[in-house]
Amino acid sequence: MYTFGNGQAEGRSDMKNLLGGKGANLAEMNLIGVPVPPGFTITTDVCTEYNQQGKEAVTKLLKNDVEKAIKHVEDLMGTKFGDAENPLLVSVRSGARVSMPGMMDTVLNLGLTDSAVEGIAKKSGNPRFAWDSYRRFVQMYGDVVLGMKPKSKEDIDPFEEVMDEVKKQKGVKLDTELEVEDLKLLVKKFKAAVKERTGKDFPESPWEQLWGAICAVFDSWMNERAIYYRRMNQIPEEWGTAVNVQAMVFGNMGNTSATGVAFTRDAATGEDIFNGEYLINAQGEDVVAGIRTPQQITIEGSRRWAALQGIDESVRASKYPSLEEAMPECAKTLIETQQKLEDYFKDMQDLEFTIQDGKLWLLQTRNGKRTGAAMVKIAMDMLRENIIDEKTALKRMEPQKLDELLHPVFDKAALKSAKVIAKGLPASPGAATGQIVFFADDAEEWSEKRKKVILVRIETSPEDLRGMNVAQGILTARGGMTSHAAVVARGMGKCCVSGAGEIKIDYKTRTIEMSGKVYKEGDWISLNGSTGEVYEGQVNTVDADLSGDFAKVMELAEKYTKMDVRTNADTPKDATVARKFGAKGIGLCRTEHMFFEGDRIKAMREMILAKDEEGRREALKKLLPIQRQDFEGIFLAMDGLGVTIRLLDPPLHEFVPHQLATQKELAAEMGLTIEEVKLACDSLEEFNPMLGHRGCRLGCTYPEITEMQARAILEAALDAKAKGADVHPEIMVPLVGVVEELKMQAEIIHNTAKQVFAERNDWVDYKVGTMIEVPRAALTADRIAEVADFFSFGTNDLTQMTFGYSRDDAGKFLKIYQEKGILKNDPFAILDQQGVGQLVRMGTEKGRSTKPGLKVGICGEHGGEPSSVKFCASLGMNYVSCSPYRVPIARVAAAQAAI
Ligand code: ADP
Ligand code: MG
Ligand code: MG
Repeated sequence: MYTFGNGQAEGRSDMKNLLGGKGANLAEMNLIGVPVPPGFTITTDVCTEYNQQGKEAVTKLLKNDVEKAIKHVEDLMGTKFGDAENPLLVSVRSGARVSMPGMMDTVLNLGLTDSAVEGIAKKSGNPRFAWDSYRRFVQMYGDVVLGMKPKSKEDIDPFEEVMDEVKKQKGVKLDTELEVEDLKLLVKKFKAAVKERTGKDFPESPWEQLWGAICAVFDSWMNERAIYYRRMNQIPEEWGTAVNVQAMVFGNMGNTSATGVAFTRDAATGEDIFNGEYLINAQGEDVVAGIRTPQQITIEGSRRWAALQGIDESVRASKYPSLEEAMPECAKTLIETQQKLEDYFKDMQDLEFTIQDGKLWLLQTRNGKRTGAAMVKIAMDMLRENIIDEKTALKRMEPQKLDELLHPVFDKAALKSAKVIAKGLPASPGAATGQIVFFADDAEEWSEKRKKVILVRIETSPEDLRGMNVAQGILTARGGMTSHAAVVARGMGKCCVSGAGEIKIDYKTRTIEMSGKVYKEGDWISLNGSTGEVYEGQVNTVDADLSGDFAKVMELAEKYTKMDVRTNADTPKDATVARKFGAKGIGLCRTEHMFFEGDRIKAMREMILAKDEEGRREALKKLLPIQRQDFEGIFLAMDGLGVTIRLLDPPLHEFVPHQLATQKELAAEMGLTIEEVKLACDSLEEFNPMLGHRGCRLGCTYPEITEMQARAILEAALDAKAKGADVHPEIMVPLVGVVEELKMQAEIIHNTAKQVFAERNDWVDYKVGTMIEVPRAALTADRIAEVADFFSFGTNDLTQMTFGYSRDDAGKFLKIYQEKGILKNDPFAILDQQGVGQLVRMGTEKGRSTKPGLKVGICGEHGGEPSSVKFCASLGMNYVSCSPYRVPIARVAAAQAAI
């Protein structure tokens, strides 16, 4: 138990592991003189114990400490928990190490009972407020602790039902229009609903309420939403949540009270503009939930918002005034406080505040979630402002998020002719085009069928998370810049337009009306998350701009990295893109991809079906010039940089036709009978081709293939050299498991080189190396290094063979394995450091024990995944190689590993 209050605290902001993010920062805010209601934090360790030992055991252990801590709060507040005249009310709040917005539960106004509510009414002189708090409490407690929250969209929420009924009877729309008598009626009906649903009376003892809420918060760590969110964000289950119990302050005390949320900078663009939203006479999640239209904090923000919504200035000022206009004193304090918090934490803060009768209280601060663009801009701005240094700025990058900056944006010309059919708030930038769906389940289903969807909702809730995750973009009718949809979309880096007020969504008919026209499920629309505009149909996109702050980040990465990033590229075009992103060469050029283009496959098939070596050589002669030309283009694109080209790898059956019609065609072309072709194709069939006749096993059985490929590579290199390029060919032999395989292949390559150089009377410096992708190669890497000039870990195959999982079939059970916790991640996406990583480490060390300066890299899919890149850096690899669009991500991850 860690207490805080009145400028003192037992915890600190660097104790997030123990106190959770919320608890640690509540403590720190106390210490730096920001007004925070007193309270205490139950540690995350307790949550872990709770999950292991169960409710009974843990509550017994906690009892004394909780009672003592409540006493501490009582003393500071001058109130008493459970007292009839002067009761202490608290909130019970979840709070994990990292923020999981809306995933877990919170209960407000706890401690209210039939007698306490009278006490509060009398003491505050404001019975409406007392009863408003009470009805909120019964509903929240019923939802969160008593499990009455609807489980699915079809379920009716008993509390909402009662609320609608009472509002209807009274003839009002907003909950603020309800009067004391109505609120009393609500409480009565709410309690009856509790009795009906749970068979028990609503707890009248505040202590019983408190224990119920504490346990519910612990339980919420294991709810379905939280589990999904953790999996998506790779948050370990062992972390657990802390529980914060904190004295209530009230934003619902009347028109001098309010509640709100704010960002110290713009979370979408990164601009240094303080912004946020608030609601007068409201509490807790009202702002985020989209119950009433939230108002802006600053005048400027308010005017911008009104312009976007098409609201007239006079209407804005009277109906939706900013906090600066409505409560100037409080706004001034809030602006000072946000600056103080940002200066102190040296990062963009996301704040929650409440104003009780003209006094400002802070309820939360944390480093705000942001888009990739905002992440880059804020870090580079803070670097220029000397708030943080270069290394800190680099560490602020979540490498994965750079991806958002690399992708296309709408083509300006196409936008001009695009028809705007609705306008909302620019909640999360980006360009999205897709087909309309209205439900998260449909979004999932459609996207599994490779359809692009836009999820359209009146508002989103945490239940929609899965759907949002797979959608191209999200459009909501209700909710502001801090609504659930907006916050979550920004966190995902997903395009979102929120609060498009004039659109009319009908879930029943699955239609949406925009600008007087009805659009159906499946119709195409496009969203511009940077302007809030919605367009009819599909709008063209263009490449992203990589200058400015993005270039500055790359410059910093270059300055601090100790490891190069190369790219996996099979064409001059891919090579050029990757070079633009800063690739330092090609780590993997797969030659087989070239065989599938146009007519080339014919020559390849001729080679495969040839009866003898002579026949094969004939066909290979046709392939030679084609390959040479491809390689030349790549050498020219990579002028001055190393280019690793892998010899033929896949099993031959992948190249031959399996359909009768095509087999017939081939037979005719080659002057063979159909039977002969069929027989030849069938004979190539393997039970397990991935472990079959492939890789260097082809080159060892058909040396003339290696000969041709080596010749094509070296001749191309000489051709490129003749055109003035600085070439560095590196010939890579795949799937070596026995050093003799490599010896044999290397000999062919060296002999071919001698011949080519003699014929051309010219030469280039070239290297011969191997992929380490068969476990035996890693185990005997010291021997293999005697022959190899370089190693490149092929971690896709190495993972496959180390786990014994077929890459092509593992999809069937890998998902289940992750759900059951057998595997933490998909080992084909994130390098398994414990197992496969051991082989990589051993291979590197053994290789270098024979050949100290041995150049080592990795070219599996893992080469672009940040945690794997960091692991490779820790082994002292020379480079990682990844697909072009992941090059910037890998560069930043590599730099982070070096600082
Ligand atoms: P979440 O983690 O989902 O944001 P919080 O624990 O932050 O949940 O609670 C949600 C909201 O409830 C807060 O933003 C705040 O407005 C309100 N709240 C929480 N505790 C208090 C309190 N002690 N007094 C007043 N409002 C509170
Ligand atoms: Mg919060
Ligand atoms: Mg391989």
